[in-house]
Amino acid sequence: MPRDTSPINLPRKADAQGVLRHALSGALGRIAMVSSFGAESVVLLHMVAQIAPATPVIFIDTLMLFPETLAYQREVAERLQLSDLRIIQPDPEALFAKDPDGILHLAEPDACCDLRKTQVLDKALTGFDGWITGRKRFQGASRATLEPYERDAATGLIKVNPLADWDIARIRAYREAHDLPPHPLVAKGFQSIGCAPCTSPVAAGEDPRAGRWRGQEKIECGIHVQDGRVIRGKDLVGQELPGTELPTKLRGKVA
Ligand code: SF4
Repeated sequence: MPRDTSPINLPRKADAQGVLRHALSGALGRIAMVSSFGAESVVLLHMVAQIAPATPVIFIDTLMLFPETLAYQREVAERLQLSDLRIIQPDPEALFAKDPDGILHLAEPDACCDLRKTQVLDKALTGFDGWITGRKRFQGASRATLEPYERDAATGLIKVNPLADWDIARIRAYREAHDLPPHPLVAKGFQSIGCAPCTSPVAAGEDPRAGRWRGQEKIECGIHVQDGRVIRGKDLVGQELPGTELPTKLRGKVA
């Protein structure tokens, strides 16, 4: 059956909970949440747990995460009583074949993200019609025009971004109002938290994602692409860059 590539004609003015309620009502088909259990993830996880606690929550353990993230994931999942948490990991055989020493990220970070994230998530999303992401516009230029609902043209999957227009103050206020635990690395200057070898703290005034792949052109995970290419820093200032072409089935996934 051909993939649905039609635009999603849904109200853009609903608040985050309204967007989530609609997404989880069944009206959009089978929807999962994908969470990194990162710096601000607990807010959206809390909303999902309140609205539809049986929602499948997918967590990609790349086997390169900070121990703090793994501990935080366990703490939050228990606190929110997530009943369908799906912890997914890279295929051991593929890891052995392509990154036996765990150093692929040094030479080929796109290939590493593909191996440890994109392929894994692609498999986990089989059977779903869409997924909820925690992306927000304030997180950087690559996300500045984010809408609450998107349809990935390559895969036909719906991406739901309930917090697209939330800023950091609003997120912190929600977390504090609901007494939700912060990620332990936030207090150490991490504002966006991915794999340990590719994440560093950010200074005041820096883009919140400046600590991801610092010093490289790469600014988005391999599962977050645009027009079929991994987004590069220069793509956002109008300069020509070829990017990295991905196989069709891997395009359009989100970090
Ligand atoms: S963030 Fe770094 S370590 Fe993690 S999958 Fe991507 S390149 Fe590999």
